[in-house]
Amino acid sequence: MVSSMSSENIINKIASNPLDGVLELLKILNEYSAKLTELAKAICRNLNLTEDLRITLFFGRLYEHEVEKGPLVEVKGVGIIRRDIEGLYDPKRKAIMLPVPDPPRDICTTLAHELMHHCQYTCHTNVCRSICEYWLSPEEGDEIRRQIPYDFRPHEIEAYSKDKNLCSKLKEFKEYSEFENTMINAVNKVKQWLTAFILLHGP
Ligand SMILES: [Zn+2]
Repeated sequence: MVSSMSSENIINKIASNPLDGVLELLKILNEYSAKLTELAKAICRNLNLTEDLRITLFFGRLYEHEVEKGPLVEVKGVGIIRRDIEGLYDPKRKAIMLPVPDPPRDICTTLAHELMHHCQYTCHTNVCRSICEYWLSPEEGDEIRRQIPYDFRPHEIEAYSKDKNLCSKLKEFKEYSEFENTMINAVNKVKQWLTAFILLHGP
């Protein structure tokens, strides 16, 4: 079960020494990642996407376009795509990485965007045509990443053009509202951990 451990116990762990404190954070992240993974699998079932997917929470911040390190190019007459996605899909691990304690400002669009990538890398039959039409392998993804800038990558163009619609569809699933609530609980737990850690071991 998620967060079986009381706040008092967490503070005791953090107080004992900083190493145990950080391991405690790892435990919190893994507990919530497991719960979110179950919900994401259920969402995939509803969408006819493969359930071979995991969610990994990490302590930090990221925007997909920054991590993906696409060289910014300005081409006359071509606008850059919007870059508000605060998550990342790892096609080799089939994992969606999501940040805490500052969660994506738009959890729904971020999840939908990364599910688009999950579809692109894992769906190779007509079953998921309604979600994604562009399919590639992790190796093709690597090649594209090396040679084509972020804004021009076909899987990004498709994901950005369809993530808002997919988000509307996600909102019809009860598992999605549970997903969002679980994210909020995870965020609160990590904030609590951070406050205690800074208080006990901070400068
Ligand atoms: Zn993307």
